[in-house]
Amino acid sequence: MIAPRVEIAPDKIRHNTRCLVDRLKPRGIDVTGVTKAVCGHPAVAIAMLEGGAIGLADARISNIERMRNAGITCPISMIRTPMLSQVDQVVESCDVSYNTEPAVVAELAAAAQRRRIVHNVILMVEMGDMREGISPKNLDSIARCVFETPGVALKGIGTNFSCLNKVAPNSSVMAELSSLVSDIEESCGSGLETVSGGNSSSLTWALGSGPTGRTNNLRLGEAILLGVDPLSHQRISGLHNDAFTLAAEVIETTTKSEAILLQIVDSGFSSLRLLPEDHQRTRIILAIGLQDTDARGLTFPAGITFIGATSDHLIVDAPDCRMRPGCEMKIQMNYTALMRAMSAPDIVQVLHDDTPLPRLELVEHSRPDLASM
Ligand SMILES: *Cc1c(COP(=O)(O)O)cnc(C)c1O
Repeated sequence: MIAPRVEIAPDKIRHNTRCLVDRLKPRGIDVTGVTKAVCGHPAVAIAMLEGGAIGLADARISNIERMRNAGITCPISMIRTPMLSQVDQVVESCDVSYNTEPAVVAELAAAAQRRRIVHNVILMVEMGDMREGISPKNLDSIARCVFETPGVALKGIGTNFSCLNKVAPNSSVMAELSSLVSDIEESCGSGLETVSGGNSSSLTWALGSGPTGRTNNLRLGEAILLGVDPLSHQRISGLHNDAFTLAAEVIETTTKSEAILLQIVDSGFSSLRLLPEDHQRTRIILAIGLQDTDARGLTFPAGITFIGATSDHLIVDAPDCRMRPGCEMKIQMNYTALMRAMSAPDIVQVLHDDTPLPRLELVEHSRPDLASM
């Protein structure tokens, strides 16, 4: 088989989505599947929808266009504040975008009006992650401005946690989000449809015993794709952790019995263990490198330890020398390693189940059309 490759099991992604959807439903929360780590891979996106996600979200317009070109018609949200240079593409391909900048919303509105459509806006509120978001004290005036701008509709508000800072949401922050919703509804005199309470790191809160308040949506990527909680790195019970597997090919095996002691020029590297300590072990080189993935985010089969990686080589230490050139090693990836591997031009992606691609008659792509209103 072609190597290196990422083997994708859509049935496991479908199962993971279904489990999370079923657990969140009694809490009044629906799931938007986040596809950015797989660059909008259509089979992964479809598996999320089949598992019960109400829509999809991605941070890049290129990924969203890839899903549209594959015939996916469900609601898709742009979850990174759109670039001014891309407003036309955003209103064309996305039903909703997450926004923080009034100037961008104004341009989205103009682009939507040119097309005689209404573009939905969710305002992102800063609740502690300190990445994107409107300060709660400015939210009300910006919300009113969006509400009054023709061409855009204020669909809701959202927040994000644990991206830039490893801050997890807690009940008081989430209660504050709910009270912001009430404030906006009062000042705009209209209800908000979506209150998106964060990403996979909000799951612990959402599945806890406290009230979920007005939060009715989570945007989930890592939990669905890898079955882990991004904050604790713990596996989520009942979910698959191996929906994606990286297969890399062995190109050299050596039992280096004598360490060749080179003078280490850069003292910063002196702590690196370049050779196995036990010289009976085998040193294996895999034809994959930093250009393909995040070497620190890989988990090797039992007994194999990571030694180091360069742009095109990855060196591990194995307890025996049964692995010969041409053999393959199966490796698990964390979120960053997966994201890099899925966007690497030299890694092929292979669907790993027998079910044919389902027909694309999923959720209808609904977009209010001014012309028909
Ligand atoms: C990446 C991202 C998500 C999904 O995060 P996961 O940790 O993968 O669940 C949700 N919302 C926004 C704004 C994001 O950028």
